[in-house]
Amino acid sequence: MRLIKKETYLCYLDRPLCRMEVAPADSDYYRRTRRGTSYSDICYMNFDRLRINFHSGCYFKYLNKGCKFCDVEEGNGYHAFEDLKEAIDLYGGRKELRHFLIGGGTGIANRDFPYVLDIARYIRQTVNKPVYIMTTPPEDLDILNQLKDCGVTEAAFNIELFDRALAEKLMPGKGSISLEVYAKAFERAVQLWGNTGQVRSALIVGLESPETFLQGVEWLCRQGVSPMLSPFRPYDHTDFENRFPEADQEILRLYREAKKICGRYGMILGPACADCEDNTIKVTL
Ligand code: SF4
Repeated sequence: MRLIKKETYLCYLDRPLCRMEVAPADSDYYRRTRRGTSYSDICYMNFDRLRINFHSGCYFKYLNKGCKFCDVEEGNGYHAFEDLKEAIDLYGGRKELRHFLIGGGTGIANRDFPYVLDIARYIRQTVNKPVYIMTTPPEDLDILNQLKDCGVTEAAFNIELFDRALAEKLMPGKGSISLEVYAKAFERAVQLWGNTGQVRSALIVGLESPETFLQGVEWLCRQGVSPMLSPFRPYDHTDFENRFPEADQEILRLYREAKKICGRYGMILGPACADCEDNTIKVTL
């Protein structure tokens, strides 16, 4: 990173590659709620979006069925509604806040949804800004109608790996959710929110074969679901800490192929919002 004529540039071996923006630090990140909970545990402000982490950690990890490449800690419970409300009230008044994401960690969708509904309702009744949910897919599809009714505007159910044999091996909990369950949730979600990018699903680049990865992109597009490409990154203390990410040229090739497939179906590579591209592959040429 280098400052050139007061602009910040991303550099490689001191050679400027492109202009970049640095996200400002969040002054409330280290504050605590009245109950003593750190805001950094329950929410995360990212440019124009506040992520509400309603679930503490990952339920699949708690069951000893966590994804082998993921460093999220185990958890089997929810953050207190009082704390979440305080975070929504505090950040909700900020000018730059455009929307909310309810997600973070992983719980069990059918068990979680009453709470997700309560949070979405509270946001709509107080701040009244758009709400995006990122969860596992519900089996009871009427939940999606309820979410739409209480103001949810976008939904993501991330399949991560299209090769389901590999998914079951690397993601013993989440990978056991069948593609049929995802497909039914996608079908209802697209009926409710449309096929122009409001319904999305992440696929990891660099864990499965290029063939199954691209089949996954096509499978999503065919259903009106916008794929998001998430690069594999090795995290410490996981089974994959020593595995290299995919080579840059291969990532670029897969990105281009995925874009071509999206183009054939009139879909966009998600997310549509530039500020929400964290953790996804976006290429500036
Ligand atoms: S990626 Fe897997 S282990 Fe990590 S939070 Fe999601 S379900 Fe849990």
